[in-house]
Amino acid sequence: MVCVHGGRFGGTEPLDPYPIWVAEVMLQQTQLQVVLPYWRRWMAAFPSLELLAAAEEHDVLLLWQGLGYYARARRLHQGARQLREAAAAPGGSTTDPWPRALEGWLALPGIGRSTAGSILSSAFDLPHPILDGNVKRVLARLIASPRPPARQLKGLWQLSELLLDPQRPRAFNQALMDLGATLCTPRNPSCGACPWRGHCAAYASGAPAAYPVKDAPRELPFQVIGVGVVRNGAGEVLIDQRLNEGLLGGLWEFPGGKQEPGEPIVATIERELREELAIEAEVGEELISLEHAYSHKRLRFVVHLCTWLSGEPQPLASQQVRWVRPEQLEEFPFPAANARIIAALQARLGLEPGRAAHAGRSAA
Ligand code: SF4
Repeated sequence: MVCVHGGRFGGTEPLDPYPIWVAEVMLQQTQLQVVLPYWRRWMAAFPSLELLAAAEEHDVLLLWQGLGYYARARRLHQGARQLREAAAAPGGSTTDPWPRALEGWLALPGIGRSTAGSILSSAFDLPHPILDGNVKRVLARLIASPRPPARQLKGLWQLSELLLDPQRPRAFNQALMDLGATLCTPRNPSCGACPWRGHCAAYASGAPAAYPVKDAPRELPFQVIGVGVVRNGAGEVLIDQRLNEGLLGGLWEFPGGKQEPGEPIVATIERELREELAIEAEVGEELISLEHAYSHKRLRFVVHLCTWLSGEPQPLASQQVRWVRPEQLEEFPFPAANARIIAALQARLGLEPGRAAHAGRSAA
């Protein structure tokens, strides 16, 4: 976080909330070392709230490609427009559009209490507690909580508030996050170097890594997805843009869908192309098969090359469909799994692999 705040956590002067807000949203589901290059690229492309608010959603999603949980990018973009509108409204300030109250931040899409508290304490040194994943772990260990953090949120929020130093909230919250990131790590916490060792119930128990306690792991649902890379006589391929709802909303992808029980994968692809695009296609050889795990399910994509036969493609289950040349695919934001399909297609066609292939390797 030093790069985001310029290493100025010792002071109490206000800091620019914009880079802090962007970093906090990126860090919601992704580790710092993965976030850093994305954050730097983002700040170079959209260095201010005004430029982000004025950007096209397509460009915002393209910059986020490979970071996962794309709704975060759309919400940042929507939030920038919301702040800009509020600043231009009566009573607003175009020179200082940033809320100072928790409610002001909570009104922005995708901002919860912990992110709002972190921004307010980091940017304005205001006394708001935080409770991100690292802090939950530290606090649950401090009291050797017998329940998983998700089932003891109220108590952990109270503890975070109780411990917060009201004179130096910025420095305190940063120290708490640093403690979770560097010493009180999920496995093998470095209790010997920890300033809270003398007060820590998990340390006193002799088994600090046994905390926080967890619920029994549940088996993730598994699905096979048949995908068609459909080509026409001009050598173009067919892609469609997902509806805006859901985890990957607004991104582009190759058409396909879930395999029904007992259904051959070729029949799945034929059926999906018919149901979602109203086209008939001949399903040819397999291009690639790959697995991708999300937080709530595991998917296996079985991808076949297809030849378009008939029917004008219709966006029956998407926002729009488009025929594009294979070398144009990198101009569209795709989910990580589709980026690997692009790389396989480029290799098959003898094209130079580009950025899409890279995104597929580095995706969360
Ligand atoms: S003593 Fe160990 S378990 Fe307790 S807060 Fe410090 S690092 Fe975490």
